[in-house]
Amino acid sequence: MLRTLADLEAVVDLTPEERRGMAGAAGRFRVGVTPYYASLMDPRHPHCPVRMQVVPVAAETGEAEGDLRDPLGEDGHRPVRSIVHKYPDRALFLAADHCAVYCRHCTRRRITGGEEGAFDRDSAAEGIAWVRSHPEVRDVIVSGGDPLALSDDRIGWILEELRAVPHVEILRVATRAPVVNPMRITGALAALLRKLAPIFVVTHFNHPKECTAEAREACERLVDHGVPVENQTVLLRRVNSSARTIADLNHRLLSWRVRPYYLHQGDLAEGTGHLRTPLAVGLGILEALRGHTSGLAVPHLAVDLPGGAGKVTLQPGWLLGPGDPAVPPAGASGTVAPPGRARGHWLRSWRGRPVFYPEPLETDCTCPYDEVFYGDRAALRRGGNGW
Ligand code: SF4
Repeated sequence: MLRTLADLEAVVDLTPEERRGMAGAAGRFRVGVTPYYASLMDPRHPHCPVRMQVVPVAAETGEAEGDLRDPLGEDGHRPVRSIVHKYPDRALFLAADHCAVYCRHCTRRRITGGEEGAFDRDSAAEGIAWVRSHPEVRDVIVSGGDPLALSDDRIGWILEELRAVPHVEILRVATRAPVVNPMRITGALAALLRKLAPIFVVTHFNHPKECTAEAREACERLVDHGVPVENQTVLLRRVNSSARTIADLNHRLLSWRVRPYYLHQGDLAEGTGHLRTPLAVGLGILEALRGHTSGLAVPHLAVDLPGGAGKVTLQPGWLLGPGDPAVPPAGASGTVAPPGRARGHWLRSWRGRPVFYPEPLETDCTCPYDEVFYGDRAALRRGGNGW
């Protein structure tokens, strides 16, 4: 790992901003880059999207409006140190406090900064015991830090223990290894994960520059072993904040059979304000993608709300509102409305044209066969989730 000013200046022409960033990060935020990921940096251009993700700049040490040490309000939802439990049926399992690279936009940098001390075997055992004693948890996301910064033995033990819990239906592993250290995805690791199906790898590509032959091989190795791979991109100002970049990235990932899953609005993590985009930028990107590319290439735009309130997704304003087909919205031209319908909504097509969508006459949407099909399980769900 390249960690120091001397390490970095051996491979890139550091700007005064980056030198100040390195000085400001010292003792506050970890800095580190794998030799592989460093080899993707443009040594001369400070706006290289790879370089901007791993080399701190002076702005990182300043305070931005709304910055929070715990941006997702996780600490109030940690029944034990290695578990974050914010949603009824899911839990986040913190398996490690370290990573192969330290991203400048990291949302959990209070943990990857090492402030809490190591996440060791004892804290993992405590988390496994907590999952075992919570039958409502059916989906566990193993994260950190980067869980694939652990050895195969250590991560294999954690995942096998979780897989052995009867009520855990799905496992997910959140890792940047395919992006920043693709050689970590060995055949042995892929085979280990395959044995634990259903298990998903959720990775984190942010820019097409990261889509190398090595990264492709890592993703395809997982998929070929039967391990689905999903991608979460973080929207970063001047790194990937354009529709062209996101479309290009998602097209490349899809060709590797990696599904673009989330486009994340930047969280309010301290020292990341200079990388955050206005909400309108994410919405504009989604609007530019819809209709112009396949739906598979259009991710969910997610905002993880502060204070532990959880994630919500945003959509451009396709729904104009309820209306009458005979009374098109103001400014509408070339509208489409079927004759003789009084109830319905006006929607905006991806080309910007108002279109009337009639409501069905029957509105009772209860499913009478549910009670037969689900039986006691329906009662359980109603009790737990209000479904
Ligand atoms: S790999 Fe993930 S956890 Fe680690 S620094 Fe990057 S964003 Fe944070």
